[in-house]
This record gives sequence, C-alpha cells and structure tokens, in this order.
Amino acid sequence: MEGAAVMSTTTRALVVTAPGRVELDEIVIDSPRATEVLIEVAATGVCHTDVSWAAGTLYDDFPVTPGHETSGVVVEVGDAVTRFVPGDRVVIALTHHCGHCRYCESGHPMLCASRTSQRPRLSWRGEALTQGFGVAGFAAHALVPESSCVAVPEAVPLEIAAVVGCAIATGVGAVLNIADVQPGSRVAVWGAGGIGLSVVMGAVLSGADEVVVVEPHAARRARATKLGATKTVTPDQFESLNDDDFDTVFESAGYTSTMERAIDATRRGGTTVLLGAPPPDHEVRIKALDFVASQKRLLGCITGDVSPVTDFDRYFRLYLHGRLPLDALVTSTASLDDAATLLVDGPPADEVRVVVRP
Ligand SMILES: [Zn+2]
Ligand SMILES: [Zn+2]
Repeated sequence: MEGAAVMSTTTRALVVTAPGRVELDEIVIDSPRATEVLIEVAATGVCHTDVSWAAGTLYDDFPVTPGHETSGVVVEVGDAVTRFVPGDRVVIALTHHCGHCRYCESGHPMLCASRTSQRPRLSWRGEALTQGFGVAGFAAHALVPESSCVAVPEAVPLEIAAVVGCAIATGVGAVLNIADVQPGSRVAVWGAGGIGLSVVMGAVLSGADEVVVVEPHAARRARATKLGATKTVTPDQFESLNDDDFDTVFESAGYTSTMERAIDATRRGGTTVLLGAPPPDHEVRIKALDFVASQKRLLGCITGDVSPVTDFDRYFRLYLHGRLPLDALVTSTASLDDAATLLVDGPPADEVRVVVRP
C-alpha cells in the first residue's frame, strides 16, 4: 500500500559478524513488498557453502545471515502475491528469478540475470545485513520472493522438504536436467556429502547400471551404499582402479584437484559435471589437446538447473512413492542456539545434513 507505514519483523538469527565469528542475535526484516512472502522458518539445512561463507572463503560480505536450504510456513504476503496465503507450507528454491529474461523464458531460471539483485531487506544493530543466498535461513523468519516458494504436500514433513531446496535440487537436478544419465550407464561420483548422495539417488532413479562413489569418510561411503551405490572407494583406491571409462562423472567435493581427476575418469565422448564450490580464485587445468581429441563434455551446474515448481513437485511425489529417499539426507537436527558452533566448525563428517529448527 502506497504511503502506509512500513511494518517490520524483529526475529532471532545467526549473524556472522566477521570470518569465524557467529552470534545469535535479533535482526530486523522489512515487511513484504508486493511480490514477497514472509515465512516462519521450520527448518534450514547446514550446507557446505554456509560453512565456507562463515569461514570467509566463499564471499567476503559481512555481516551476513547465511542459510539457504529452508522450509517454513507463510505468515505474511505482499499485496500482489497470488499463489500463497498465510498458513501455506513452502520450501524455498534458490531461484529468486524474474520470470521474463532470456534465461527464465528459455526454462533456466537458475541462470536468471537478476537473481541476486535484490535490495537489502535485513538489518542488524541498525546496519544493513547481507541476506545470505537471498534467503538468510538461519533465522526464525525469512523474507523471499513469491517466485522462490514451492508448496510442500501435507504428507511431507517440513524438515525433510528443506533439503529439496539445495542438496536434492543440485544433485538430482544434475543427473536429470544437466547430465541426462541413461539407463545402463556407468556413473562415478566424487564426494558423498548431501549433494553427492543426491547425485547417487538421481543416478539410481535414472537406471544407471554402475554408480561408483569416491569418498574418504567410511560413514559417508556406507550411506552411499545404502542409497544404491554399487561400489564405494577412497580417493587412493580410485586411483589404483585405473578406470577412465565412466559415461558420466560428477564432482561434488569442491576441490579443483578432484575436478581434474573427474575429467580424467570420464570416457571419450563422456560427460563431466562440476557441482562443488571451490574458492572463487581456484582454477581447473585441462590438457587441451587431450580434451579436444577425446571429445569430452565438461558441464557446470548451478542448483541442478531446476525449474522449481515442476521439479520439486516430482521430487515430492517420488519421495511419497518410495523412489527418492529425501529423509536419508537428514541425519540430525539442531536448535538455532547450537547452530553457531556448527557454522564455525562445520557439521561432523559422519553427518549428511544437520537441519536447524528455529
Ligand atoms: Zn547449499
Ligand atoms: Zn530472469
């Protein structure tokens, strides 16, 4: 409403004030603009990129409230919001897309040119607070565009729905939307964190014949096996396999060294998909002539190139029909009070997703 007093919401949030320093404090969230939705956060998964941002190795924007793998219940909507009313259960997709640029129109909202151009909506102690990944999910409330919300079916618990927003979207999306894994094919996956395990789920769903997971932590290898990996190895063991004949290799560990090994392990004419998030100045080296002559395809992947309404809906249906075990990713829950330590130290290696419930 033009001229109406701007109401705001004061809520509790984790604030990373500087690299390695996290406080639980009150923040102020602006009231929803016309196309925005205020949600009461039910759950936010701790993703590797949240930990990297808190450590100062991903972005140098501080103070920031990170957290982006978020679900919740709508509490307030802007005047022009048509798809949701207070009380609706939603999961947040990281699109924040405009809906009408060349990328949105061609079915790639994750590449939208104006995804990250939102104006500051949060403040802390009177100064602007960066809304991490456009969500700031480690808080009791979050303000996001309507276009970034996807309805969650009643039968899906919100703490399970949360992991769809990043891990599942990225991993399953990489398989179904980016790599187009074929039935009977040979797949290798570097890293068995939330995203790597989601790749395993997607590869199994696609009918891959072989899914080899490369992961140093035994507990994570065991989880990969449970989800359908046909073989799990440590990075050293993989080297001694001397196997470079995979149709598709996914790199989710986020190291440029393993990205290079993933490219090497891809067969001639095969596809390498890079999903991990190394620090911004790191570079991958490719043997140029070998790459040309081997006719490999090297693909990037941002949040699985998902179209959230269509894709999340099918993930939820596959979960409800027992074909996509979303719940396998949620290995424990934590309160907002406990989450400060998780952000600074990172979750223990045997956890996949610790879900924070404010
Ligand atoms: Zn994430
Ligand atoms: Zn757009």
